[in-house]
Parts: sequence; C-alpha cells; structure tokens
Amino acid sequence: MVFIVKWKVIEKSKLPVLIAELAKEFEVFAPVKEKNMISFERISSGNEAYLDFRNTKKPPKEVFFPQTETLFTYRTGKKDVEIVESPAIKGKMVLLGVRPCDARSFVLLDKFFSSGEHKDLYYLEKRKNTAIAGLACNRPLSTCFCTSVGGSPFGKEGMDLLLQDINDKYLIETVTKRGKELVKKFPWLKDAEKADIDKAKKLSEEAEKAVKSKVSVNGVSEKLDRMFDDPLWDQIYQKCLGCGVCTFFCPTCCCFDILDEKGKRDRIWDSCQFSCFTLQGSGHNPRPSGKERMRQRIMHKFNYFVKNYGESFCVGCGRCVQECPVNLDIREVIGAISARQGK
Ligand code: SF4
Ligand code: SF4
Repeated sequence: MVFIVKWKVIEKSKLPVLIAELAKEFEVFAPVKEKNMISFERISSGNEAYLDFRNTKKPPKEVFFPQTETLFTYRTGKKDVEIVESPAIKGKMVLLGVRPCDARSFVLLDKFFSSGEHKDLYYLEKRKNTAIAGLACNRPLSTCFCTSVGGSPFGKEGMDLLLQDINDKYLIETVTKRGKELVKKFPWLKDAEKADIDKAKKLSEEAEKAVKSKVSVNGVSEKLDRMFDDPLWDQIYQKCLGCGVCTFFCPTCCCFDILDEKGKRDRIWDSCQFSCFTLQGSGHNPRPSGKERMRQRIMHKFNYFVKNYGESFCVGCGRCVQECPVNLDIREVIGAISARQGK
C-alpha cells in the first residue's frame, strides 16, 4: 500500500457516518433533494445529503449570503441606538458537496465583500468560520463553460478539501491546512492507493474534455469600454422579461436591499434586473428600461469587476442559461460583443 498523506478515500456507504460525526461539532450544509429542487440546506444526519447531482439548482451562496437575513436587532433609547444581537454571525460550519464552479464563486464574492473601507462582516465572518469540502464535476452539463472563465470541473480554488467520485468511493484530496485538520478528525479514513489517484486523474481529463461550451472572454472588457451607447443593447434586451431569475440563481450575483423594521435590520436579495432597483424617491430612474438594466448586468460581470479585481464576475456555471424563461443565453451575448466590428 502506498502511503499518501494528501489523499484519503471513503467508501460511499460510510459517508453518512462521517457527516453525522461532523454534525456533532459543526453546522453542516449539503445538497438536499426535495421534489425537483436540489439546494444547500442544513442537515443533521448523513442520509439527508444528496450527492448524485450534475449541479444544484440553487447555488450555495445562500449559506453566506442568505436570501433574507436579520443582520442585527436593536433598541432605540432617548439618545442612541443599542445593538442587541447579531444572529447573522454564526459558529463553525462545514459546507459539503460544492461544485468547483460554485467554490470559485466564493473566491470572487470574497473580493467583493472585503474590498474597500467597509468590509461586510456578516458575510466575512461566516466565510472565516466555514470549511468547504468540494465535489469534483464528473459530468459537466451542455450549458457549463467553467473552462472559459478560469475554472475547471476538477478545480480546487475556494476549497479546503476536494472529494472526487471514483465509483464506489470518494477520493478525498486535502487542499488547505484547514482541510488537513478536518481529515485528522477521522483517523479511520483509509489512505488512497495509486490506482485511486490514477482513476481520478483520468476522470478529471475526461470531464475537462466534456466541457464543450466555449466562450471567449478575451478582450471583452476592452470592447465593453467602448460599448456603453452601442445599439447592440437595443437588440439584446428585447426579449428579456426582467424577471431577475438569472441573477437570483447566479452564484456571484449579490445585489441586496436593507430594511429597518420593528427593531431589526434585515438584508434581502435584490436584482439589477428589477425596474425599482435604481428607482429614486424623486421618481427618476437612471436605468429606466430593460436595455440599461441588461447592460448593467453584463458590464458588471465582464467590465467593472474585471477592472476592479482582474477577472470576470462569472464562473460559467450555466444556471442563467438553463433557467432563463426566454432562453436569453449569456454565452451568445458575450459572443455578440466579441464579434462587434470596429470596437
Ligand atoms: S452569469 Fe450565468 S453562467 Fe455566469 S456565474 Fe452567473 S449564472 Fe453562472
Ligand atoms: S432570466 Fe432571462 S428574462 Fe429573466 S431577467 Fe434574466 S435574462 Fe431577463
């Protein structure tokens, strides 16, 4: 037997035991299937986790950035305001079964929520307290284009551990020190054999080839610099319903609104695709039609974020392609921008 510290294996039948042990010490979140919806939920037993999926319908961003979240409760006195508690700050968590595209989304969201003078404590504390055990993607979908935007079906960015499905067992690859500490809690895990690692390598190569959808983002940001008033936006937005589905299902979209009500401050998701998102109290709306709102979404992902953080704000998960009710395909939008002559 080859002794390899970095790699362990677990039989699939033993995974519920491992999860049950984890749940004694951590809040554990994993994909759960309910009817046709697979989303990340808090689980208390290993049998609740559902890992036989292509990708979850909802991305895991909700664990760190919930759709509705009470940031803190407060009391108002005669002179000042006193914070009572911050339920948004959580203890130690483990997030299990995250696909590589979604794990990469956390790396991008970290940049967004930690940049500038005002850090987002509510997001960052949860991130700091959470170990991420990813799950490699053996069977990418036809809508996946992670390899075009810096990712890979077996990518490890944003993870502490990477689980790789090698038929009747998972190969567990340690990525970070935190991952190593987590693995140490399970001395009964077996060391991987060379054959296990070779099998995973072969699956990784096959998965990479299976990502057929290619999108060229090279030069798109520079083209967009000169396309703010381009007539292309008049064509692109026409069939958009402004439903916001693309943004709600996107692992990187993170627009939000704040509500102060009855002694608590809540944060709720919002969408740049909604007409009221930029509606001002005066009645003026700087993004009055779907054209400006569509332009904002594309500009933010492929121009503003690139300028601020050096990469696109898209991980190529393809959810917006799958879920858009009118088949507005972001890959075609990028293609149309790339093909724009004279820009
Ligand atoms: S823009 Fe679309 S493909 Fe890109 S990360 Fe968001 S949902 Fe996924
Ligand atoms: S999902 Fe489609 S129709 Fe809905 S806002 Fe996004 S692009 Fe428009």
